Amino acid sequence: MSENILSRRDFLRLSGATALTTTLTACAGYPPVAESNPDPDSMPPHVAQALSGAGGYSAPEKPVTLPQDALQRLMEGNQRFVANRFLDPNRSPQRRSAVAHSQQPFATILGCVDSRVPPELVFDRGLGDLLVIRSAGEVLDEAVIGSIEFGSFELKIPLIVVLGHERCGAVKAAIDALEHGGGGHRRSKKKGEHSAEPGDIGYIVEGLRPAIEKAQSWGMGDLAENAMRANVSLTVQRLRKSPVLSAAEESGRLKIVGARYDLDSGAVEVLFS
Ligand SMILES: [Zn+2]
Repeated sequence: MSENILSRRDFLRLSGATALTTTLTACAGYPPVAESNPDPDSMPPHVAQALSGAGGYSAPEKPVTLPQDALQRLMEGNQRFVANRFLDPNRSPQRRSAVAHSQQPFATILGCVDSRVPPELVFDRGLGDLLVIRSAGEVLDEAVIGSIEFGSFELKIPLIVVLGHERCGAVKAAIDALEHGGGGHRRSKKKGEHSAEPGDIGYIVEGLRPAIEKAQSWGMGDLAENAMRANVSLTVQRLRKSPVLSAAEESGRLKIVGARYDLDSGAVEVLFS
């Protein structure tokens, strides 16, 4: 699919108008969580200890090297978050010591700076688990892309998740700027030239412009929601242009997925992979 052409079919897919989207909590087939508090005596010791609020102890987990295993581990954490059944794994002093000299995170999360979407909480993970990069609206620049490439090339992380979210303030602000203020500043603009947005905020607006214009072209639905989904799609497409990431994905060592976080339910939904 061309970066510049998102068809009506893509709109339907990205806007959630079809059943093709898959929730993180539904597609992995992991066991359901009981609604009531279970008997601590029936639980593994580390689970009972974690649930008792004893401080985030968790038994060492097997290293994850396959993309599908990484996605499943991430899903399981989000399901715990949604169900308010945190394990708070890998937050103990033992874990801190274990990763003090090396790390093997199993997923890279590119998310928004929004204070309501902290990846370690949303996926119930701890020290050394996630490589997290955040920018307003998940907007890319060389530092963001280079950081993601570092995770893939140097740390061999098997999964990248581009995580957009509901009611993204950056997307809303960019829409407002483009519709009423004429937009931000193009990168080619010279220093001192007039910009509708102060500082470098215009860079964020310009980064979101293609997704917003794409969503505007669809002419239906909620513009902010559709722009957020289009932005996730375009961001994944841009990452796949990285020679480092595309080589890893083509070899099967890496998977890049787009996802959406629901502020109301806490659930993460995989939009496409
Ligand atoms: Zn946001």
